[in-house]
Amino acid sequence: MQKIRTVRGTKDLYGVEILSHNNVLDKFCKLCKFYNYNQICTPILEHSEVFTKSLGISSDIVSKEMYNFIDQGNESLVLRPEGTAALARAIVANSLHQENNKFFYFGPMFRRERPQSGRLRQFHQVGVEYVGKTNYLYDLEVIILAEKFLGEIGIRDKLVLEINTLGNEQSRSSYNKALKEFLINNSTKLSEASKKRLQKNPLRVLDSKESEDQEIIIKSPDIKNYLDPESKNFFESLIKGLDKLKIKYKLNRFLVRGLDYYNHTAFEYKTSEIKSQNTVLAGGRYDGLIKSFGGDDLGGVGWAAGVERLVLNLLNLKNKEDRMVCIFSTNENLDIEILKILNDIKIKKKIQISFLITGNLKKKLSKANKIGAYGCLIFGEDEWKKNQIIWKEFKTGNQKLIALNEIENFLNKDL
Ligand code: ATP
Ligand code: MG
Repeated sequence: MQKIRTVRGTKDLYGVEILSHNNVLDKFCKLCKFYNYNQICTPILEHSEVFTKSLGISSDIVSKEMYNFIDQGNESLVLRPEGTAALARAIVANSLHQENNKFFYFGPMFRRERPQSGRLRQFHQVGVEYVGKTNYLYDLEVIILAEKFLGEIGIRDKLVLEINTLGNEQSRSSYNKALKEFLINNSTKLSEASKKRLQKNPLRVLDSKESEDQEIIIKSPDIKNYLDPESKNFFESLIKGLDKLKIKYKLNRFLVRGLDYYNHTAFEYKTSEIKSQNTVLAGGRYDGLIKSFGGDDLGGVGWAAGVERLVLNLLNLKNKEDRMVCIFSTNENLDIEILKILNDIKIKKKIQISFLITGNLKKKLSKANKIGAYGCLIFGEDEWKKNQIIWKEFKTGNQKLIALNEIENFLNKDL
């Protein structure tokens, strides 16, 4: 029979890869908890309007990437493509901001893109969001979290933080007008894709990776000249803050985020590789988004990172795994005694215990070796009679007898 494959752009996660994912998640969660961010888990299924209303019709996500379908009850649903709009919806639906204003999340996201390394149709994101008063200090706080997180997983030094401002709504819209005019005047030299973008969302042209667009983009008006005092002040304070914190960054006036809800701050952590999947973590400010969902007029700032892209950048995929111990008998009649041990045991330390059932002693030892066990607890007829079990450590080859009622102590203390 022909094997059924995974859906294009999706992956089964197992082995080293899932260990790396878990490693990243583990560090992310610990850090978020340390900074008192609260976990939130929103559904994978959402009403389409959560994203169509907020991300913008011309964004890549809404215009071509969403998994959108009508279900049996005639509802228009999507598999969520990103976390921020879903969080905004959840905040309004549950009045969450009255008690909390810092959130973190992780989980799968779905976008119908052309699959390639670091670009999947089902991928995973970790993200943090701060909602509340608009204050550049919160932009700094979420950037600190990004710095710590990337540092913890050991890739901060391989990345460059690029930062820009889009200004507040007024500044953004006056810049948009000027940019559109400039691009229209130069449209004959633009790529076909950019000609289309120019009509719907000129800002997105700055994001273009087409070589023919670069010459025009370079000459385009600079957002800095269109910032009102509030926007200018906000960005200057943020940059001064980064300097004070000694966080390295690069100003990039062409950095625009592809979604409509962004204003003021936009930032990305990028690798130096010249390919379209070089951004591992991206974020920005989205004042007004909560209000657009019918909530209070709150500001917001946050970021999301693609776990697959982070994992691709981890130099050493090797994880410091918890020690694993195999436990088995030399006589199948004793297997029930082993299950009794497993049923009673209370382990406080981070170790793993793996019960091996089939095969003779030699086979079980070699299996234990193969799956990377630190050592084995072996139960034979003679030991059972004396209420003992053999401990064999692979690295040293040492072997000793342990009393059955001492196993718990041994695993918790001596290992
Ligand atoms: P790109 O320009 O690479 O398409 P994006 O701007 O669409 O990225 P965001 O919406 O900002 O990406 O998502 C934040 C992060 O999520 C990205 O920096 C990336 O690490 C990850 N990401 C986005 N899309 C994918 C995907 N299709 N597969 C894997 N990771 C992704
Ligand atoms: Mg994209």
